[in-house]
Amino acid sequence: MDDLDASSPEVMRTFYRRLYPFKSIFNWLNHQPVPTRLFTHREFSFTLPQDVYLRYNSFNTVEDLKKQVCLLAPTRFEIGPVYTARPKDKKTVRPGAFKPLQRELVFDIDMTDYDSIRTCCKDAAICKRCWGFIAAAVRVLDTSIRDQFGYQHLLWVYSGRRGIHLWISDKEALSLTDEQRRALVNWMMAVQPGKGKEVGKVIARSGTKPLPPCLQFALSELAEVFSDIILNDQDCFGSEEGYDALLHLIPDSKVAENLREKWSTGPYRTSEDKWSDLKNQIKKYPKGTSQRPILTSAMEDIILLYTYPRLDAEVSKHRNHLLKAPFCVHPKTGRVCVPVDPSLIDDFDPEMVPTVGQLLRELDAAGSQNENGMEHHSDWESTSLKPYVDIITKHAQSLMEDVRRGKRETDTTTW
Ligand SMILES: [Zn+2]
Repeated sequence: MDDLDASSPEVMRTFYRRLYPFKSIFNWLNHQPVPTRLFTHREFSFTLPQDVYLRYNSFNTVEDLKKQVCLLAPTRFEIGPVYTARPKDKKTVRPGAFKPLQRELVFDIDMTDYDSIRTCCKDAAICKRCWGFIAAAVRVLDTSIRDQFGYQHLLWVYSGRRGIHLWISDKEALSLTDEQRRALVNWMMAVQPGKGKEVGKVIARSGTKPLPPCLQFALSELAEVFSDIILNDQDCFGSEEGYDALLHLIPDSKVAENLREKWSTGPYRTSEDKWSDLKNQIKKYPKGTSQRPILTSAMEDIILLYTYPRLDAEVSKHRNHLLKAPFCVHPKTGRVCVPVDPSLIDDFDPEMVPTVGQLLRELDAAGSQNENGMEHHSDWESTSLKPYVDIITKHAQSLMEDVRRGKRETDTTTW
């Protein structure tokens, strides 16, 4: 057992005091150097050991937040919406007048929703290979959100275990109502993940109509992912259980029966072999027959079903949803919830993310070289947390630059 365990309040206190990048978190949430309502009216909630949960905390300054976090040493803390009043004054505000106003638009993708299709790991386990599902989801979602909604300030954060969060901080995104969030996430949900062993279903297609244009566009990239991950790396249709799930998705009992016969009695066929067997069966229907487009659509749906981002929609729908703050430590793995650059998502390895124990040891090693023993606010600079802090610092700077530019433009308007 690591002596620098994330379950120890002392370890967590040192982490918060010396490594947690409060300043960058503040800039990211507040968009300006001086506290605005985006910070002062923002809810923070704390989870303490023994599952004590403290809600409706708010702070005037980032120093106050840091002081409280270091005092409580929570196992984690979460960030909620900006309310009409300061959350700490909730009890003194007239009932009904305390409402959530703004918050980042958030998305959550978790490996749990891929359990029915991944073959390399089970339950809580995750490896570089099944991370491929998450990486593909990030690529597709990052592109389609930028292209379809024009949002620019996207921050991706590894959840510390087996998922990833997306925080969108564009001004328009912050102001979306719950209804608009629901509509947006429903639009993005092309696939409904199944429960237990069920693969799930495609919900983006209405009847036998073609897919909406944005999905047709995504399909060419997803087809590549399908070939790389589903057919080759994961060999999803290799086992009987795997190909059984595939056969259930084919809306033609004759084709499905022929394939079952071939795969269950003949020599082993890889997923790639099986996929070309399916293509060959479809080609037996001449062009112009009604079965041909039905089966082609079914193949598109299978690609979507196995590769399209699987979203935990409930997280996105409500402004008052609380989401774990970036740079918290996952209590089970000890790993820090670090930001991830989406353009490097394929190289990201969740098992290489620094743990709190590792960081404190690095800090000790750096400290013993430091003669004067002074403690700095940016102690993370001498640890492997640095590249991740750099991501959020840069991200926050671009947000702040946008706000400065917006202000300048308003100031110079003469009409
Ligand atoms: Zn795996």
